[in-house]
Amino acid sequence: MTDIQLYNTATRSKAPFEPQDAENVRMYVCGPTVYDRAHIGNARPVIVFDTLYRLLRHVYGADHVTYVRNFTDIDDKINARAARDGRSIREITGETTAWYLEDMAAVGALEPNQMPRATDWIGEMIEMAEGLIERGHAYAAEGHVLFRVRSYQDYGALSGRSVDDMIAGARVEVAPFKEDPMDFVIWKPSDADTPGWDSPWGRGRPGWHIECSAMAFGLLGDSFDIHGGGNDLTFPHHENEIAQSRCMGHGFAKVWMHNEMLQVEGKKMSKSLGNFFTIRDLLDQGVPGEVIRFVFLSTHYRKPMDWTAEKAREAETTLRKWAKAVGGVAPGVVDPAFLAALADDLNTAGAIARLHALYGAGDAPALRAALDLLGFTLDGFGEETVGDDVAGLIETLLKDRAEARASKDFARADALRDGFAAAGVLIKDTASGAEWELSPEFDLTKLEALK
Ligand code: AMP
Ligand code: ZN
Repeated sequence: MTDIQLYNTATRSKAPFEPQDAENVRMYVCGPTVYDRAHIGNARPVIVFDTLYRLLRHVYGADHVTYVRNFTDIDDKINARAARDGRSIREITGETTAWYLEDMAAVGALEPNQMPRATDWIGEMIEMAEGLIERGHAYAAEGHVLFRVRSYQDYGALSGRSVDDMIAGARVEVAPFKEDPMDFVIWKPSDADTPGWDSPWGRGRPGWHIECSAMAFGLLGDSFDIHGGGNDLTFPHHENEIAQSRCMGHGFAKVWMHNEMLQVEGKKMSKSLGNFFTIRDLLDQGVPGEVIRFVFLSTHYRKPMDWTAEKAREAETTLRKWAKAVGGVAPGVVDPAFLAALADDLNTAGAIARLHALYGAGDAPALRAALDLLGFTLDGFGEETVGDDVAGLIETLLKDRAEARASKDFARADALRDGFAAAGVLIKDTASGAEWELSPEFDLTKLEALK
């Protein structure tokens, strides 16, 4: 079996991956808060963990991996959007969720096995909050439930900070009902205009962190193999998830994986810099989803990655070349060096270097197999885009053919008809003139020979 090595944020080292149950490898990845289109940074964890999911399925079998990614559909940003637009929360989260799935499918991401919505798990979150209070790790105060950070010895271990450093550096909210400023919210009260659920502490809503602890437990059990997300989530989100779950006596995640952030043309993406855009913006500009995926995978997930228009152009050229090479080719065996790169903590840059080598060696079946594993179908990618030159040439030749017919030069007319067919240009004569279309076998050289 392929030896997979993964870098674990919790241990700050790379180690052989050993699933607890090879029949059911379990992974949880923090999903989006659904109130707006996903920006291109949001697609990075999706593409990274989709690639890991595909690798795990390849190694352990497609039916032996469970991948859970949540939708955060309760959040103050969603409430604010609903109030701004005068729409219901459900309408906004439903619409945004559908957009998200569409956009992520366009960049070649498989849907996870489970995509729980936080609002379907409120009961489990309340249960966990009660459990934490019983165990002395949380307390109720003024309609809130707060996690007692000082009650958990290992708090800060994931991100490698001490509680005192965190207090000094973090924007912790001081509130009169908190025992300690570091204590974080598990549950908070909702006023009449804010969505809320009945609870032992009055009508309210969950904090963000409890959602992942409750859903991971409900769907993956006490202990699971991999937990992923962007590295902006390491603290406080993941630190707080760990604290809650461990204090409930759960083993929780063994391997923690975090992708680095994405930038645009060397700068942090921000609305004020005018370099903020969504996956949908790129798709609408005609950037194929495969190109986005390829650019992302060209940088290792633990390195900052820069989106540039130049990279997108290069990726498109490469993919067109490869699509032509593998068109109609059946996949061969997966190249061992390619797989070894991928298994080495998802060295996708190394894996892509190997694709270039396979292309160079003319090994189309191996290239096809490797592209399949990486999630590139490249359907329709090998087709020529019809440039003005090609369209102009076809129009000229069609005029030629009409003139040949009119002057009863049947030899020339027939030669053109056969020539179009041989060049892969499909001609349909209609009442309003000839219409044409390029078949996948289109051959520009043969067309030019007809001049
Ligand atoms: P959010 O909806 O803001 O909670 O983010 C969803 C996911 O996108 C999280 O895993 C974040 O870590 C990730 N993410 C947000 N911004 C970026 C970025 N610029 N680059 C990479 N990942 C990001
Ligand atoms: Zn989470």
